[in-house]
Amino acid sequence: MKDWNLRSKKVLLRVDFNVPIDANGKITDDTRIEKALPTVRALIDQGARVILMSHLGRPLKSLLPDGSIDKVRFSLAPVAVRLAELTGHEVLFASDCGGDDSLAKINQLSDGQLLLMENTRFYKQEEKGDSEWAASLAKLGEFYLNDAFGAAHREHATTATIARYFDKDHKGFGYLMQAELESASRVMDHPERPLTAILGGAKVSDKIELISNLLDRCDQILIGGGMAYTFFAAQGYAIGQSLCEQDKLPLALELLEKAKSKKVKMVLPLDSVAADAFRAEARTQITQDVSIPDGYMGLDIGPKSVKVFREFILNSRTIIWNGPMGVFEMEPFSHGTAEVAKAVAEATYKGCFTLVGGGDSVAAVNRFGLQDDVSFVSTGGGAMLELLEGKILPGVAAIRD
Ligand code: AMP
Repeated sequence: MKDWNLRSKKVLLRVDFNVPIDANGKITDDTRIEKALPTVRALIDQGARVILMSHLGRPLKSLLPDGSIDKVRFSLAPVAVRLAELTGHEVLFASDCGGDDSLAKINQLSDGQLLLMENTRFYKQEEKGDSEWAASLAKLGEFYLNDAFGAAHREHATTATIARYFDKDHKGFGYLMQAELESASRVMDHPERPLTAILGGAKVSDKIELISNLLDRCDQILIGGGMAYTFFAAQGYAIGQSLCEQDKLPLALELLEKAKSKKVKMVLPLDSVAADAFRAEARTQITQDVSIPDGYMGLDIGPKSVKVFREFILNSRTIIWNGPMGVFEMEPFSHGTAEVAKAVAEATYKGCFTLVGGGDSVAAVNRFGLQDDVSFVSTGGGAMLELLEGKILPGVAAIRD
């Protein structure tokens, strides 16, 4: 993108403006718009005519009682207003995506001006990756740029199919996408060692492919959160009422075996904060060891675990963190995650490359105000998870192939 001369050129830019909007049409978190600004600004500065495309929510899954699309709730119109405020430039808005209104407004675009087209998911062709529709959209621009990392794991018309209609000198990644891919590659392809994965969250079943792929690459894997208890149950420890996936016990043992044979240190918690109910007001105790008493459930890692996890974190040169260490949304069970977040920030200041990827660990670093104290916070939960699982993202392949 940097090497192209885009003055007066029509550039189709796919972004991820899938922001939360409340019932009054107010955007409650504009992080995703902000993250696209470096690319948008660069295009404005170059004098390109920028045609923005994005999805918002799942309009086809939340139809109105008469079976029609809720075009108010899922409209990108409020995003156009916010984008104008953030860039300080006028943003034209088309009430369709690739229809008559879009065509008329594209013809009005002057150099350095922005047009946002309406929600791509108002069209059933989007999620089907429909070739005909993608081809018709491709005709609207001379270049195609993809900066929608959060949607790169979807093989949709505007995230993947459309790229087929541009040769490699006319398609590329935006700056956000580039930064996300470089961060993932720094962890997965050429990490400075030791490479440590910190994995948490509720279920082992959501993270099987992740753990399996990381076992091929990491030196150390720290496991916290609800999923640790399936590993404990598999080894015959008492886990009380803690989260446990009975059908995943053999798999947990397999993963522990795989770690042993690959000489990867798989570190489980040494103690837990256990509670007699899944409530912030529950009666709690810190367990002496890994066993959880009957009538209690493990909802956070305990202080001994924090100490050991901290040591592993601080001896690392590269860290990938996915998933909280406990039920961090409730204060009494947030300390393990907070301490791990602090240790990751400390490691970053010592020169360790730290990538936080995956929805809830991102929410956790934000909650503890440490988002600027780690090397990179991924914007794409599902997309980053798939990259770390070793998958090729359709949105990336469509540009590179
Ligand atoms: P995930 O989306 O799989 O990363 O899971 C994140 C969720 O796991 C968060 O909402 C946490 O509250 C929850 N979680 C973490 N640790 C535990 C635990 N020990 N027991 C129950 N839920 C947990």
